[in-house]
Amino acid sequence: MSEIRPQRGLDDIRPYVPGKPIEEVQREYGLQDVVKLASNENPLGPSPKALAALEKTLREVHLYPDGQGYYLRQAIADHLGVTLEQVIIGNGADGVIVQTCLAYLDDGDEVIVGRSSFPVYDIYTHVMRAQLVKVPLKEYRLDLEGMAEAITERTKIVFVCNPNNPTGTIVTQGEVESFMAEVPEHILVIFDEAYYEFVDSPEYPDTLRYVREGRRNVMVMRTFSKIYGLAGLRLGYAVAHSDTLAPLWRVKEPFAVNRLAQIAGIAALEDEEFVRRSVEANREGRRYLYRQFERLGLFYVESHTNFVLVRIGPEAREVAERLLRRGVIVRPCTGYDLPEFLRITVGSPDQNARLIDALEEALAEVR
Ligand SMILES: *Cc1c(COP(=O)(O)O)cnc(C)c1O
Repeated sequence: MSEIRPQRGLDDIRPYVPGKPIEEVQREYGLQDVVKLASNENPLGPSPKALAALEKTLREVHLYPDGQGYYLRQAIADHLGVTLEQVIIGNGADGVIVQTCLAYLDDGDEVIVGRSSFPVYDIYTHVMRAQLVKVPLKEYRLDLEGMAEAITERTKIVFVCNPNNPTGTIVTQGEVESFMAEVPEHILVIFDEAYYEFVDSPEYPDTLRYVREGRRNVMVMRTFSKIYGLAGLRLGYAVAHSDTLAPLWRVKEPFAVNRLAQIAGIAALEDEEFVRRSVEANREGRRYLYRQFERLGLFYVESHTNFVLVRIGPEAREVAERLLRRGVIVRPCTGYDLPEFLRITVGSPDQNARLIDALEEALAEVR
């Protein structure tokens, strides 16, 4: 039998395993009330300003969106103090990662990532038949010195996930400065700042500064999925020198960012009150989880994000399964090379309490 052979890059892909959708757990376990703490969604729901704007634009969905995303890019540029030409939007930050890989990676190029970091980088590196170079973390933090040492003539991109998913840790301004001083100009450094708005450390680097200074080999990616509560709309963006973005424009789908997402994004940027409430609720929820993990004798990694990495032990997968049966979805970290850990999103107070109850029961069963 002959078959249609998929392109060779696909042979190396370890499929992305998303957090199980609520609907699937309801179906498979016969449950009504299911809590998802697996995908770092905002427990407060969407930004109210974004929702109001969406309601007004619903009747216009027969029209294609603006393929250039002019008004949204202008709003992002104003918000960040950069220029329109320095902004590109995508179908989620994921979409921008895909575009960047399509635009820049050739067969045999090397891409440096943290060993336990965001898996979407790995997938599109493989799709482009480039080589992944994984640098182990140090104390659950990206090791920028190690990543600089991993640079070769073939390196094309370095992904610096900051804060890092799934560990929630950051690299500092000082570490980034030393790193940038060593990286040659023909290597693109991508700072993935999906959790930027949650960070309140004075050591967190100002990476947009590199773009404002005109540096060409820096790209900063952010998203509306996390703090603005718009994960279901799919909207992310990147900021970089316009020359660096030009290849991304050439590969982009004509209408990658839909009309609703563009309208909602503009309104969300103005919703400072919602951002403040989200950050505050998250800080409270995180503190609660820390206290409970301490009470249960579980090691956790202090987080700058809306999720916490917690060590369960060799039974981590089994515990995750037992949580599912109780209607609580969390993220096992096997795919991140952290098989003894779970990554748990900070939920609402009720959700967090329910998680802790379920976790206590599950731990008692497996130990
Ligand atoms: C959630 C996340 C993204 C993707 O965000 P979308 O805009 O929803 O595609 C990118 N990077 C990291 C590190 C994330 O955690």
